[in-house]
Amino acid sequence: MREIKVGVLALQGDVEEHVWALRRALQEMNLPHRVIEVKFPKQLDEIDGIVIPGGESTTIGILARRTGILDKLREKILNGLPVFGTCAGLIMLAKEVRDATVGETRQPVLAVMDISVIRNVFGRQKDSFEIDLEIPELGKTVRAVFIRAPAIIRCWGTARPLAKISHEKYGELIVMARQEHMLACAFHPELTKDTTVHKYFINMIIEYRIK
Ligand code: GLN
Repeated sequence: MREIKVGVLALQGDVEEHVWALRRALQEMNLPHRVIEVKFPKQLDEIDGIVIPGGESTTIGILARRTGILDKLREKILNGLPVFGTCAGLIMLAKEVRDATVGETRQPVLAVMDISVIRNVFGRQKDSFEIDLEIPELGKTVRAVFIRAPAIIRCWGTARPLAKISHEKYGELIVMARQEHMLACAFHPELTKDTTVHKYFINMIIEYRIK
């Protein structure tokens, strides 16, 4: 198999953690690979898939717009580039974004996935938590770290929920979803040693781009 080139959007957030998680996952899968930190629009032409990390979605969105990455990345994704957004990255993918306290945010996003997201739905930094999350699609329970996390309240079109948790105010909330070549999760798989979720995304890249 040819070398797989996976990008990590490297404007803000936990870029390094995703680079390491991807490298570990690709090594464990014995795949020839390159992991590329994407800072400029032209780098989007070199990659087979991209991870959008956690961080601050408003900052990532503003920087992506300023560098010209936002529009080009949107076009690439709409043309089938596999993408995986975690936490702030999930917010970047959503077509509908609201904040739990301020409501409408009007922040620049990619708006490619048929999901409706609420930012900071679990509260502030002190309300961060970890749980064992069952993900039936992966046939596994993974340790999921939530840090000022968003969640999905609605999926439509071909978007489908992959994992849910319960919330005292909102009832059931979706914390992981997939729509064809697009994957999103509200937690941080890059912060644990378990590479299951990254491997699932790498298999999506193989399915859509390499085969
Ligand atoms: N609260 C952040 C946002 O709204 C996301 C937090 C994270 O990525 N850990 O962008």
